[in-house]
Amino acid sequence: MEEKGDLKVNFDHDPHAVIQDLDIVISKLKKILGNQWVSTDYIDKVAYGKDYWLISNQMTLDGKIPAYPDIIVWPQKTHQIAEILKYANSHKPPIPVIPYGEGSGVVGGAVPIKGGIMVDMKHFDQITINAENMTATIGTGVNGKVLERYMHEHGFRMGHIPQSLHASTVGGYVAHRAAGQFSGKYGKMEDIVKSLEVVLPTGEIVKSKFYPRASVGPIVDRIFLGSEGTLGIVTEVTCRIWPFPEKQAGSSFVFPTLQDSLNAIRETLQANINPAVVRIYDKPETVRHFGSTEKKSKDKLMVIFVFEGSSRLVDLEMTITEENCLKHNGEACSSRPVDHWFETRFNVKESSDFGPYGLVFDTVEVSIPWDKANELYEAVVQEILAVPGALMATGHASHFYPTGVCFYFTFSGVPKKNQDYLELYNQCWDAAVRGTLLKGGAASHHHGMGLNRTRWMQLEHGEEFKLLKRIKKLLDPNNIMNPGKLFSQREEGSVYLTQRSSLDAKPKGGL
Ligand SMILES: Cc1cc2nc3c(=O)[nH]c(=O)nc-3n(C[C@H](O)[C@H](O)[C@H](O)COP(=O)(O)OP(=O)(O)OC[C@H]3O[C@@H](n4cnc5c(N)ncnc54)[C@H](O)[C@@H]3O)c2cc1C
Repeated sequence: MEEKGDLKVNFDHDPHAVIQDLDIVISKLKKILGNQWVSTDYIDKVAYGKDYWLISNQMTLDGKIPAYPDIIVWPQKTHQIAEILKYANSHKPPIPVIPYGEGSGVVGGAVPIKGGIMVDMKHFDQITINAENMTATIGTGVNGKVLERYMHEHGFRMGHIPQSLHASTVGGYVAHRAAGQFSGKYGKMEDIVKSLEVVLPTGEIVKSKFYPRASVGPIVDRIFLGSEGTLGIVTEVTCRIWPFPEKQAGSSFVFPTLQDSLNAIRETLQANINPAVVRIYDKPETVRHFGSTEKKSKDKLMVIFVFEGSSRLVDLEMTITEENCLKHNGEACSSRPVDHWFETRFNVKESSDFGPYGLVFDTVEVSIPWDKANELYEAVVQEILAVPGALMATGHASHFYPTGVCFYFTFSGVPKKNQDYLELYNQCWDAAVRGTLLKGGAASHHHGMGLNRTRWMQLEHGEEFKLLKRIKKLLDPNNIMNPGKLFSQREEGSVYLTQRSSLDAKPKGGL
């Protein structure tokens, strides 16, 4: 690795973000938090300069750093966050503040491209269960695996099981409106979170009230679900929980065509049958994941179901699902594909393997109503494969609704002569998102926009984006919260990245 002074960042700090009176700011933060919870150590700055976005990861593998915060803090109480935000907001010039969970985001959401204060939420780790209401009040720094294990130990199920369960927090789930593997039964974050506490960029603490339902004007707290750290720091959420399921069972089927499998699942969900897990793998992914597991999968698409709940309900849901699958040309398989799915569901070896060899690789999850689902799949695969240098585009459908479906595409490629890694990467992304938006789909289903996708915010929201920007201005007049994400367009974010010819700018503030 290069020497400290020579380390290079890939995102220039905005000159306004350089903290001239750094020593004064540090001593103020130490006064608020105590000396041990404030760091400007070199190693911490490097560690908090990236998330799990393929680009920030690749830069790190290349010995570069994508960005770095000026200061890292570990608050323990909500009022401390309030004081930090009040101070950062009133400082001249205002100081950027970035909330941080565990950095498992895959779109650059936590990458501190403007420097500033990184607020690690790990100490917000309390969990309180109300068994009568079937709710849990949870600090947003709680790790997903810790949370689910705690629920199991107490006889409950939270049911939010993202593939990144071991390495992500509740705050990150709220910020990206995440979706777990079992979301068919337990819902996505917007279904799970019933109320929350948030510290606004100006330092006010706002807590929404928990109730089963109400008709008391607009639901204000919803604006913070999916706000990606740009509107405030969420400190606590009250969530719906469930009894630990009496029974869990799985089934799998192979189908001759994607449309057949979509029809079977659409009819099942529209009949209000809710398997916890549903996955359709296209033919290439069926070969990749199940080729050696299930002989019947040859030239077919594999579909996996997992059901959870009371024993009688699980049996009934399985029966109706099976009827729909058989009706639409599905053929029942052995238990092996479901077992295999359980064994490999947290395996992300592929993405770790490819990066070091310079192979461009990523995943793109989008959503689309049923009536365009098959078309969308075809369009996105074709759009990606038409990019010079792209070698592979495959997909599976991973989340379902009575109204539509989420497709999760995987692409890879090798840059051609005169094409660099980033160029090919961005062209593949553009192709996937273009294919989706042209068909009327949403640019992201659950990973969020972050740095990578912020360039599609205007196109995605249309007129609504103006309203969103007004809300941002009102809540965060000095744009201190996670600047460069969600609300930036051409001047910042990933477009800024694509416009650069060099990836090795020197840091202006110095490390
Ligand atoms: C291998 C792998 C598998 C994945 N599988 C899934 C999956 O199945 N489903 C899914 O939805 N996602 C998945 N993800 C993406 C990622 O795990 C989620 O986006 C997760 O929600 C991020 O959580 P985090 O705590 O790591 O957040 P971070 O990466 O630390 O931050 C993400 C964003 O949230 C903001 N933020 C964090 N905490 C707060 C807070 N308290 N208040 C306000 N803003 C905050 C940050 O500023 C940033 O913008 C996967 C990622 C990986 C690497």
